[in-house]
Amino acid sequence: MSPPESWGRYPHVEQHTRSLVWRSDALPRGEGTLLPRGLGRSYGDSCLNAGGTLLLTSGLDRLIDFDPTTGVVRCEAGVSLDTLLRLSVPRGWFLPVTPGTKFVTVGGAIANDVHGKNHHRSGTFGRHVRRLELLRSDGSRRMCSPEENPDWFGATVGGLGLTGLVTWAEVQLVPIRNPFVVQETIPFENLDGFFRVSRESEADHDFTVSWVDCLARGRKLGRGLFYRGNFAPSQFERLPLAKSHLSHGAGLAVPMDLPAFCLNRLSVSAFNLLYYHRQRGRPSQQLIHYDPFFYPLDAVHGWNRIYGRRGFLQFQCVVPHATARDAVKEILERSARGGLPSFLSVLKTFGDLPSPGWLSFPRPGITLAMDFANRGEKTWRLVEELDRVTREAGGAVYPAKDARMSPESFAAYFPQRERFAPYVDPAFSSSFWRRVNPASLPALR
Ligand SMILES: Cc1cc2nc3c(=O)[nH]c(=O)nc-3n(C[C@H](O)[C@H](O)[C@H](O)COP(=O)(O)OP(=O)(O)OC[C@H]3O[C@@H](n4cnc5c(N)ncnc54)[C@H](O)[C@@H]3O)c2cc1C
Repeated sequence: MSPPESWGRYPHVEQHTRSLVWRSDALPRGEGTLLPRGLGRSYGDSCLNAGGTLLLTSGLDRLIDFDPTTGVVRCEAGVSLDTLLRLSVPRGWFLPVTPGTKFVTVGGAIANDVHGKNHHRSGTFGRHVRRLELLRSDGSRRMCSPEENPDWFGATVGGLGLTGLVTWAEVQLVPIRNPFVVQETIPFENLDGFFRVSRESEADHDFTVSWVDCLARGRKLGRGLFYRGNFAPSQFERLPLAKSHLSHGAGLAVPMDLPAFCLNRLSVSAFNLLYYHRQRGRPSQQLIHYDPFFYPLDAVHGWNRIYGRRGFLQFQCVVPHATARDAVKEILERSARGGLPSFLSVLKTFGDLPSPGWLSFPRPGITLAMDFANRGEKTWRLVEELDRVTREAGGAVYPAKDARMSPESFAAYFPQRERFAPYVDPAFSSSFWRRVNPASLPALR
Protein backbone atom coordinates (compact mmCIF):
# COMPACT_ATOMS: atom_id res chain seq x y z
CA MET A 1 0.00 0.00 0.00
CA SER A 2 1.40 3.45 -0.88
CA PRO A 3 2.00 5.74 2.11
CA PRO A 4 -0.90 8.12 2.82
CA GLU A 5 -0.45 11.50 1.20
CA SER A 6 -2.68 14.54 0.89
CA TRP A 7 -4.45 15.44 -2.35
CA GLY A 8 -1.86 18.10 -3.21
CA ARG A 9 0.89 15.45 -2.70
CA TYR A 10 2.86 17.92 -0.64
CA PRO A 11 4.45 17.60 1.89
CA HIS A 12 5.76 14.03 1.91
CA VAL A 13 5.92 12.78 5.50
CA GLU A 14 6.54 9.54 7.35
CA GLN A 15 3.63 8.42 9.49
CA HIS A 16 2.04 5.29 10.92
CA THR A 17 -1.49 4.05 10.37
CA ARG A 18 -4.10 2.16 12.41
CA SER A 19 -7.41 1.00 11.02
CA LEU A 20 -10.53 1.65 13.05
CA VAL A 21 -13.22 -0.92 13.44
CA TRP A 22 -16.92 -0.65 14.17
CA ARG A 23 -17.92 -0.43 17.80
CA SER A 24 -14.47 -0.66 19.28
CA ASP A 25 -14.63 0.60 22.84
CA ALA A 26 -11.60 2.82 22.71
CA LEU A 27 -9.19 4.35 20.26
CA PRO A 28 -6.21 2.18 19.37
CA ARG A 29 -2.83 3.16 20.66
CA GLY A 30 -0.39 4.46 18.10
CA GLU A 31 3.06 5.88 17.65
CA GLY A 32 3.20 9.54 18.72
CA THR A 33 0.03 11.57 18.37
CA LEU A 34 -3.21 10.51 16.68
CA LEU A 35 -5.16 12.07 13.81
CA PRO A 36 -8.36 10.76 12.17
CA ARG A 37 -8.08 10.29 8.43
CA GLY A 38 -10.95 10.21 5.91
CA LEU A 39 -10.34 9.90 2.18
CA GLY A 40 -7.34 12.25 2.15
CA ARG A 41 -9.02 14.82 -0.10
CA SER A 42 -7.53 17.72 1.86
CA TYR A 43 -4.80 19.30 -0.22
CA GLY A 44 -2.15 20.27 2.30
CA ASP A 45 -1.04 18.94 5.67
CA SER A 46 -4.22 19.15 7.76
CA CYS A 47 -4.81 15.42 7.02
CA LEU A 48 -1.17 14.48 7.71
CA ASN A 49 0.58 13.71 11.00
CA ALA A 50 4.35 13.49 10.51
CA GLY A 51 5.88 11.03 12.97
CA GLY A 52 2.45 10.24 14.44
CA THR A 53 -0.42 7.88 13.64
CA LEU A 54 -3.34 8.28 11.26
CA LEU A 55 -6.56 6.61 12.40
CA LEU A 56 -8.02 5.30 9.16
CA THR A 57 -11.81 5.61 9.24
CA SER A 58 -12.55 3.47 6.18
CA GLY A 59 -13.80 0.70 8.52
CA LEU A 60 -16.42 3.05 9.99
CA ASP A 61 -18.60 2.57 6.94
CA ARG A 62 -22.04 1.61 8.24
CA LEU A 63 -25.29 3.32 7.49
CA ILE A 64 -27.14 3.27 10.80
CA ASP A 65 -30.53 4.71 9.94
CA PHE A 66 -32.32 6.50 7.11
CA ASP A 67 -35.86 7.82 7.23
CA PRO A 68 -37.08 8.36 3.65
CA THR A 69 -40.02 10.43 4.88
CA THR A 70 -37.93 13.04 6.72
CA GLY A 71 -34.60 12.70 4.89
CA VAL A 72 -32.64 12.30 8.15
CA VAL A 73 -29.68 9.94 7.74
CA ARG A 74 -27.44 8.60 10.49
CA CYS A 75 -24.17 6.95 9.51
CA GLU A 76 -20.68 6.23 10.70
CA ALA A 77 -18.14 8.94 9.99
CA GLY A 78 -16.14 6.95 7.42
CA VAL A 79 -19.14 6.74 5.05
CA SER A 80 -18.43 8.72 1.89
CA LEU A 81 -20.73 11.30 0.34
CA ASP A 82 -20.71 9.05 -2.73
CA THR A 83 -22.28 6.24 -0.68
CA LEU A 84 -24.86 8.62 0.79
CA LEU A 85 -25.83 9.81 -2.69
CA ARG A 86 -26.28 6.23 -3.94
CA LEU A 87 -28.66 5.63 -1.06
CA SER A 88 -30.56 8.90 -1.06
CA VAL A 89 -30.92 10.11 -4.66
CA PRO A 90 -33.14 7.21 -5.83
CA ARG A 91 -35.36 8.00 -2.81
CA GLY A 92 -35.65 11.70 -3.64
CA TRP A 93 -33.08 13.18 -1.25
CA PHE A 94 -29.80 15.03 -1.84
CA LEU A 95 -26.91 16.28 0.27
CA PRO A 96 -27.69 19.65 1.87
CA VAL A 97 -24.16 20.86 1.01
CA THR A 98 -21.48 19.15 -1.05
CA PRO A 99 -17.90 20.05 -1.92
CA GLY A 100 -16.54 19.66 -5.47
CA THR A 101 -15.77 15.96 -4.97
CA LYS A 102 -18.05 13.21 -3.64
CA PHE A 103 -15.05 11.19 -2.49
CA VAL A 104 -14.94 12.69 0.99
CA THR A 105 -16.19 11.16 4.22
CA VAL A 106 -18.87 12.52 6.51
CA GLY A 107 -16.18 12.90 9.22
CA GLY A 108 -13.95 14.87 6.83
CA ALA A 109 -16.87 17.06 5.73
CA ILE A 110 -17.57 17.91 9.39
CA ALA A 111 -13.93 18.44 10.40
CA ASN A 112 -13.42 21.01 7.62
CA ASP A 113 -17.04 22.27 7.74
CA VAL A 114 -17.03 22.11 3.96
CA HIS A 115 -18.92 24.45 1.64
CA GLY A 116 -20.40 24.02 -1.81
CA LYS A 117 -21.97 25.85 -4.72
CA ASN A 118 -25.01 26.70 -2.55
CA HIS A 119 -23.16 28.46 0.26
CA HIS A 120 -25.09 31.69 -0.43
CA ARG A 121 -28.36 29.78 0.25
CA SER A 122 -27.50 26.98 2.67
CA GLY A 123 -24.26 27.86 4.43
CA THR A 124 -21.82 25.11 5.37
CA PHE A 125 -22.18 21.33 5.87
CA GLY A 126 -22.07 21.73 9.66
CA ARG A 127 -25.33 23.69 9.64
CA HIS A 128 -27.10 20.51 8.53
CA VAL A 129 -25.53 18.16 11.08
CA ARG A 130 -28.21 17.45 13.69
CA ARG A 131 -25.87 15.65 16.08
CA LEU A 132 -22.67 13.67 16.23
CA GLU A 133 -20.77 11.43 18.65
CA LEU A 134 -17.25 12.40 19.68
CA LEU A 135 -14.86 9.76 21.04
CA ARG A 136 -11.89 11.10 23.00
CA SER A 137 -8.59 9.42 23.73
CA ASP A 138 -9.61 8.99 27.41
CA GLY A 139 -12.42 6.69 26.19
CA SER A 140 -15.22 9.20 26.91
CA ARG A 141 -18.04 9.60 24.37
CA ARG A 142 -19.98 12.84 24.01
CA MET A 143 -23.16 13.54 22.11
CA CYS A 144 -22.76 16.95 20.46
CA SER A 145 -25.35 19.10 18.71
CA PRO A 146 -26.25 22.80 18.60
CA GLU A 147 -28.35 22.11 21.75
CA GLU A 148 -26.39 19.39 23.57
CA ASN A 149 -22.77 20.19 24.47
CA PRO A 150 -22.90 23.13 22.04
CA ASP A 151 -19.32 24.14 22.85
CA TRP A 152 -18.01 20.74 21.85
CA PHE A 153 -20.13 20.96 18.70
CA GLY A 154 -18.70 24.42 17.84
CA ALA A 155 -15.15 23.16 18.42
CA THR A 156 -15.58 19.90 16.47
CA VAL A 157 -17.34 21.28 13.39
CA GLY A 158 -14.47 22.78 11.40
CA GLY A 159 -12.16 21.51 14.19
CA LEU A 160 -9.66 19.86 11.80
CA GLY A 161 -9.97 16.45 13.47
CA LEU A 162 -8.26 17.70 16.62
CA THR A 163 -11.03 17.45 19.23
CA GLY A 164 -11.33 13.63 18.98
CA LEU A 165 -12.82 11.09 16.61
CA VAL A 166 -16.32 11.68 15.21
CA THR A 167 -17.69 8.12 15.25
CA TRP A 168 -21.10 8.82 13.68
CA ALA A 169 -23.25 11.76 12.66
CA GLU A 170 -26.85 12.54 11.77
CA VAL A 171 -27.43 14.77 8.76
CA GLN A 172 -30.59 16.38 7.39
CA LEU A 173 -30.83 15.82 3.61
CA VAL A 174 -32.87 18.00 1.23
CA PRO A 175 -35.68 16.84 -1.09
CA ILE A 176 -35.23 16.71 -4.86
CA ARG A 177 -37.69 15.67 -7.56
CA ASN A 178 -35.15 14.14 -9.92
CA PRO A 179 -31.37 13.87 -10.31
CA PHE A 180 -31.06 16.61 -12.95
CA VAL A 181 -30.02 20.24 -12.68
CA VAL A 182 -31.06 23.01 -15.06
CA GLN A 183 -27.71 24.67 -15.67
CA GLU A 184 -27.03 28.01 -17.32
CA THR A 185 -23.55 28.96 -18.49
CA ILE A 186 -22.90 32.69 -18.84
CA PRO A 187 -19.60 34.06 -20.16
CA PHE A 188 -18.37 37.25 -18.44
CA GLU A 189 -15.69 39.48 -19.91
CA ASN A 190 -13.90 40.63 -16.79
CA LEU A 191 -14.10 40.88 -13.00
CA ASP A 192 -16.87 43.50 -13.06
CA GLY A 193 -18.83 41.10 -15.24
CA PHE A 194 -18.41 38.39 -12.59
CA PHE A 195 -19.69 40.66 -9.82
CA ARG A 196 -22.68 41.69 -11.94
CA VAL A 197 -23.75 38.14 -12.91
CA SER A 198 -23.15 36.89 -9.37
CA ARG A 199 -25.43 39.62 -7.92
CA GLU A 200 -28.13 38.89 -10.49
CA SER A 201 -27.98 35.13 -9.88
CA GLU A 202 -28.10 34.77 -6.12
CA ALA A 203 -31.80 35.31 -5.48
CA ASP A 204 -33.05 32.76 -8.00
CA HIS A 205 -30.32 30.13 -8.19
CA ASP A 206 -29.42 27.64 -5.50
CA PHE A 207 -26.05 26.83 -7.06
CA THR A 208 -23.49 29.27 -8.43
CA VAL A 209 -19.80 29.02 -9.26
CA SER A 210 -17.41 30.44 -11.88
CA TRP A 211 -14.35 29.29 -13.69
CA VAL A 212 -11.84 32.09 -14.27
CA ASP A 213 -9.26 32.37 -17.05
CA CYS A 214 -6.33 33.13 -14.79
CA LEU A 215 -4.06 34.16 -17.67
CA ALA A 216 -6.28 36.90 -19.10
CA ARG A 217 -4.84 40.35 -18.38
CA GLY A 218 -5.66 44.04 -18.85
CA ARG A 219 -9.31 44.71 -19.71
CA LYS A 220 -9.98 40.96 -19.81
CA LEU A 221 -8.64 40.33 -16.32
CA GLY A 222 -10.99 37.98 -14.47
CA ARG A 223 -12.97 36.86 -17.50
CA GLY A 224 -14.60 33.48 -17.25
CA LEU A 225 -17.71 31.34 -17.32
CA PHE A 226 -20.43 31.63 -14.68
CA TYR A 227 -22.39 28.44 -13.93
CA ARG A 228 -25.71 28.70 -12.14
CA GLY A 229 -28.44 26.17 -11.61
CA ASN A 230 -31.35 24.69 -9.69
CA PHE A 231 -32.51 21.11 -9.39
CA ALA A 232 -35.04 20.50 -12.16
CA PRO A 233 -38.72 20.55 -11.18
CA SER A 234 -40.84 17.41 -11.72
CA GLN A 235 -42.11 18.76 -15.05
CA PHE A 236 -39.51 20.52 -17.15
CA GLU A 237 -39.17 21.72 -20.69
CA ARG A 238 -37.12 19.72 -23.09
CA LEU A 239 -33.61 21.08 -22.88
CA PRO A 240 -30.43 19.87 -24.55
CA LEU A 241 -28.64 17.32 -22.39
CA ALA A 242 -25.15 18.50 -21.46
CA LYS A 243 -22.43 16.57 -23.30
CA SER A 244 -20.47 16.12 -20.11
CA HIS A 245 -23.32 13.93 -18.87
CA LEU A 246 -22.76 11.51 -21.73
CA SER A 247 -19.05 11.21 -21.10
CA HIS A 248 -19.16 11.20 -17.28
CA GLY A 249 -18.28 8.02 -15.46
CA ALA A 250 -16.25 6.80 -18.41
CA GLY A 251 -13.62 5.76 -15.86
CA LEU A 252 -10.81 7.99 -17.12
CA ALA A 253 -7.74 7.86 -14.95
CA VAL A 254 -4.30 9.42 -14.90
CA PRO A 255 -2.20 6.25 -14.94
CA MET A 256 1.10 7.74 -13.73
CA ASP A 257 2.79 10.85 -12.41
CA LEU A 258 3.29 13.20 -15.35
CA PRO A 259 6.62 14.97 -15.83
CA ALA A 260 6.60 18.60 -14.65
CA PHE A 261 7.02 20.08 -18.16
CA CYS A 262 3.51 18.87 -19.18
CA LEU A 263 1.95 21.70 -17.19
CA ASN A 264 3.69 24.78 -18.48
CA ARG A 265 2.54 28.29 -19.31
CA LEU A 266 1.83 27.30 -22.91
CA SER A 267 -0.32 24.26 -22.17
CA VAL A 268 -2.24 26.07 -19.43
CA SER A 269 -2.82 29.12 -21.71
CA ALA A 270 -4.08 26.84 -24.48
CA PHE A 271 -6.45 25.09 -22.08
CA ASN A 272 -7.78 28.41 -20.70
CA LEU A 273 -8.30 29.86 -24.17
CA LEU A 274 -10.12 26.80 -25.51
CA TYR A 275 -12.23 26.47 -22.38
CA TYR A 276 -13.34 30.10 -22.47
CA HIS A 277 -14.11 30.09 -26.19
CA ARG A 278 -15.98 26.78 -26.21
CA GLN A 279 -18.94 28.87 -25.03
CA ARG A 280 -18.52 31.10 -28.13
CA GLY A 281 -19.39 34.17 -26.08
CA ARG A 282 -23.05 33.13 -25.72
CA PRO A 283 -25.06 32.06 -22.69
CA SER A 284 -26.59 28.59 -22.85
CA GLN A 285 -29.04 26.46 -20.87
CA GLN A 286 -28.81 22.71 -20.48
CA LEU A 287 -30.09 19.84 -18.45
CA ILE A 288 -27.25 18.13 -16.63
CA HIS A 289 -27.06 15.14 -14.31
CA TYR A 290 -26.07 16.08 -10.77
CA ASP A 291 -22.82 14.11 -11.03
CA PRO A 292 -21.01 16.17 -13.73
CA PHE A 293 -22.65 19.35 -12.40
CA PHE A 294 -21.31 18.98 -8.86
CA TYR A 295 -18.30 16.74 -9.45
CA PRO A 296 -16.72 17.46 -12.84
CA LEU A 297 -13.23 16.64 -11.53
CA ASP A 298 -14.28 13.22 -10.22
CA ALA A 299 -14.60 12.05 -13.84
CA VAL A 300 -10.80 11.73 -14.03
CA HIS A 301 -9.54 9.48 -11.26
CA GLY A 302 -6.25 10.55 -9.74
CA TRP A 303 -6.16 13.88 -11.63
CA ASN A 304 -3.74 15.19 -9.00
CA ARG A 305 -1.05 13.03 -10.66
CA ILE A 306 -0.85 15.47 -13.59
CA TYR A 307 1.27 17.63 -11.27
CA GLY A 308 3.90 14.90 -10.92
CA ARG A 309 5.74 13.76 -7.79
CA ARG A 310 6.39 17.27 -6.48
CA GLY A 311 2.68 17.86 -6.23
CA PHE A 312 0.95 21.22 -6.12
CA LEU A 313 -0.22 23.92 -3.76
CA GLN A 314 -3.78 25.04 -3.74
CA PHE A 315 -4.49 28.55 -2.55
CA GLN A 316 -8.06 29.30 -1.48
CA CYS A 317 -8.93 32.54 0.21
CA VAL A 318 -12.07 34.43 1.12
CA VAL A 319 -12.09 38.24 1.23
CA PRO A 320 -14.87 40.46 2.60
CA HIS A 321 -17.19 42.19 0.12
CA ALA A 322 -15.79 45.63 1.01
CA THR A 323 -12.27 44.75 -0.15
CA ALA A 324 -13.08 41.93 -2.58
CA ARG A 325 -12.84 43.76 -5.88
CA ASP A 326 -9.35 45.15 -5.27
CA ALA A 327 -8.02 42.03 -3.54
CA VAL A 328 -9.24 39.56 -6.19
CA LYS A 329 -7.90 41.85 -8.91
CA GLU A 330 -4.51 42.00 -7.23
CA ILE A 331 -4.36 38.23 -6.70
CA LEU A 332 -5.23 37.53 -10.34
CA GLU A 333 -2.74 40.15 -11.57
CA ARG A 334 0.06 38.81 -9.40
CA SER A 335 -0.47 35.21 -10.45
CA ALA A 336 -0.76 36.14 -14.16
CA ARG A 337 2.49 38.17 -13.84
CA GLY A 338 4.27 35.56 -11.77
CA GLY A 339 4.74 33.18 -14.72
CA LEU A 340 3.18 30.38 -12.71
CA PRO A 341 -0.18 29.69 -14.28
CA SER A 342 -2.97 28.20 -12.19
CA PHE A 343 -4.48 25.31 -14.11
CA LEU A 344 -7.87 25.74 -12.50
CA SER A 345 -9.19 28.92 -10.87
CA VAL A 346 -12.60 29.15 -9.27
CA LEU A 347 -14.48 32.20 -8.00
CA LYS A 348 -17.65 32.19 -5.88
CA THR A 349 -19.67 34.45 -3.63
CA PHE A 350 -20.19 33.19 -0.06
CA GLY A 351 -23.43 34.17 1.65
CA ASP A 352 -23.85 35.53 5.16
CA LEU A 353 -25.31 32.49 6.96
CA PRO A 354 -23.01 32.01 9.95
CA SER A 355 -20.81 28.89 10.02
CA PRO A 356 -21.36 26.83 13.18
CA GLY A 357 -17.69 25.92 13.74
CA TRP A 358 -15.33 28.21 15.64
CA LEU A 359 -12.60 27.50 13.10
CA SER A 360 -14.87 27.25 10.04
CA PHE A 361 -13.36 28.93 7.01
CA PRO A 362 -16.45 30.27 5.15
CA ARG A 363 -17.54 33.82 5.97
CA PRO A 364 -19.34 36.50 3.93
CA GLY A 365 -17.37 37.62 0.88
CA ILE A 366 -15.78 36.32 -2.30
CA THR A 367 -13.76 33.12 -2.38
CA LEU A 368 -11.06 32.39 -4.96
CA ALA A 369 -9.29 29.03 -5.36
CA MET A 370 -6.20 28.46 -7.53
CA ASP A 371 -3.89 25.47 -8.14
CA PHE A 372 -0.14 25.99 -8.58
CA ALA A 373 2.30 23.26 -9.58
CA ASN A 374 4.99 23.01 -6.91
CA ARG A 375 8.05 24.55 -8.57
CA GLY A 376 9.82 25.17 -5.27
CA GLU A 377 10.89 28.65 -4.16
CA LYS A 378 9.14 30.47 -7.02
CA THR A 379 5.74 28.95 -6.19
CA TRP A 380 6.20 29.59 -2.49
CA ARG A 381 7.07 33.24 -3.04
CA LEU A 382 3.97 33.76 -5.16
CA VAL A 383 1.64 32.03 -2.70
CA GLU A 384 3.18 34.04 0.18
CA GLU A 385 2.33 37.22 -1.73
CA LEU A 386 -1.26 36.06 -2.27
CA ASP A 387 -1.44 35.30 1.44
CA ARG A 388 -0.27 38.82 2.25
CA VAL A 389 -2.92 40.36 -0.04
CA THR A 390 -5.57 38.22 1.70
CA ARG A 391 -4.43 39.33 5.14
CA GLU A 392 -4.38 42.99 4.22
CA ALA A 393 -7.88 42.64 2.77
CA GLY A 394 -9.14 41.21 6.10
CA GLY A 395 -9.78 37.77 4.61
CA ALA A 396 -8.75 34.21 5.43
CA VAL A 397 -7.07 31.18 3.82
CA TYR A 398 -8.70 27.72 3.93
CA PRO A 399 -6.75 25.24 6.14
CA ALA A 400 -8.09 22.25 4.14
CA LYS A 401 -6.21 23.56 1.11
CA ASP A 402 -3.13 24.85 2.87
CA ALA A 403 0.43 23.56 3.29
CA ARG A 404 2.28 26.75 4.16
CA MET A 405 0.42 29.50 6.07
CA SER A 406 2.43 31.01 8.91
CA PRO A 407 1.38 31.02 12.59
CA GLU A 408 0.84 34.80 12.24
CA SER A 409 -1.52 34.32 9.31
CA PHE A 410 -3.41 31.57 11.13
CA ALA A 411 -3.84 33.83 14.17
CA ALA A 412 -5.13 36.66 11.97
CA TYR A 413 -7.54 34.42 10.05
CA PHE A 414 -8.91 32.44 12.99
CA PRO A 415 -9.29 34.72 16.01
CA GLN A 416 -11.27 31.99 17.83
CA ARG A 417 -8.24 29.69 17.97
CA GLU A 418 -7.66 30.51 21.65
CA ARG A 419 -11.22 29.54 22.54
CA PHE A 420 -10.69 26.36 20.49
CA ALA A 421 -7.30 25.24 21.89
CA PRO A 422 -8.56 23.79 25.23
CA TYR A 423 -10.87 21.44 23.31
CA VAL A 424 -8.02 19.78 21.41
CA ASP A 425 -7.63 16.18 22.58
CA PRO A 426 -4.24 15.94 24.35
CA ALA A 427 -3.38 12.81 22.31
CA PHE A 428 -4.30 14.39 18.96
CA SER A 429 -2.28 16.56 16.63
CA SER A 430 -1.54 17.12 12.94
CA SER A 431 1.27 18.46 10.81
CA PHE A 432 -0.88 21.53 10.11
CA TRP A 433 -1.63 22.17 13.78
CA ARG A 434 2.02 21.98 14.82
CA ARG A 435 2.99 24.29 11.96
CA VAL A 436 0.50 27.03 12.82
CA ASN A 437 0.96 26.55 16.59
CA PRO A 438 4.69 26.09 17.06
CA ALA A 439 4.16 26.45 20.81
CA SER A 440 1.79 23.49 20.96
CA LEU A 441 3.56 20.51 22.50
CA PRO A 442 2.31 17.30 20.99
CA ALA A 443 1.38 14.99 23.84
CA LEU A 444 3.23 11.75 23.22
CA ARG A 445 1.59 8.64 24.61
C1 LIG B 1 -11.46 17.90 -6.20
C2 LIG B 1 -11.73 18.49 -4.85
C3 LIG B 1 -12.70 19.44 -4.71
C4 LIG B 1 -12.96 20.00 -3.44
N1 LIG B 1 -13.93 20.95 -3.34
C5 LIG B 1 -14.20 21.48 -2.14
C6 LIG B 1 -15.25 22.43 -1.99
O1 LIG B 1 -15.92 22.79 -2.96
N2 LIG B 1 -15.50 22.91 -0.75
C7 LIG B 1 -14.80 22.50 0.35
O2 LIG B 1 -15.09 22.95 1.45
N3 LIG B 1 -13.80 21.61 0.24
C8 LIG B 1 -13.49 21.08 -0.98
N4 LIG B 1 -12.50 20.15 -1.09
C9 LIG B 1 -11.77 19.75 0.13
C10 LIG B 1 -12.44 18.54 0.84
O3 LIG B 1 -13.83 18.63 0.76
C11 LIG B 1 -12.08 18.57 2.32
O4 LIG B 1 -10.69 18.60 2.48
C12 LIG B 1 -12.64 17.37 3.09
O5 LIG B 1 -12.56 17.63 4.45
C13 LIG B 1 -11.93 16.06 2.76
O6 LIG B 1 -12.58 14.99 3.44
P1 LIG B 1 -11.84 13.59 3.62
O7 LIG B 1 -12.86 12.58 4.03
O8 LIG B 1 -11.02 13.27 2.42
O9 LIG B 1 -10.95 13.89 4.88
P2 LIG B 1 -9.32 14.02 5.07
O10 LIG B 1 -8.84 14.90 4.00
O11 LIG B 1 -8.72 12.67 5.18
O12 LIG B 1 -9.29 14.73 6.45
C14 LIG B 1 -9.72 16.05 6.57
C15 LIG B 1 -9.83 16.44 8.04
O13 LIG B 1 -10.90 15.72 8.62
C16 LIG B 1 -10.48 15.08 9.80
N5 LIG B 1 -11.31 13.88 9.95
C17 LIG B 1 -11.57 12.94 9.03
N6 LIG B 1 -12.40 12.02 9.54
C18 LIG B 1 -12.67 12.38 10.81
C19 LIG B 1 -13.44 11.83 11.86
N7 LIG B 1 -14.13 10.69 11.72
N8 LIG B 1 -13.48 12.46 13.05
C20 LIG B 1 -12.80 13.63 13.23
N9 LIG B 1 -12.05 14.20 12.27
C21 LIG B 1 -11.99 13.59 11.07
C22 LIG B 1 -9.00 14.81 9.57
O14 LIG B 1 -8.29 14.65 10.78
C23 LIG B 1 -8.58 16.07 8.83
O15 LIG B 1 -8.34 17.11 9.75
C24 LIG B 1 -12.21 19.57 -2.31
C25 LIG B 1 -11.22 18.59 -2.46
C26 LIG B 1 -10.97 18.04 -3.72
C27 LIG B 1 -9.91 17.00 -3.86
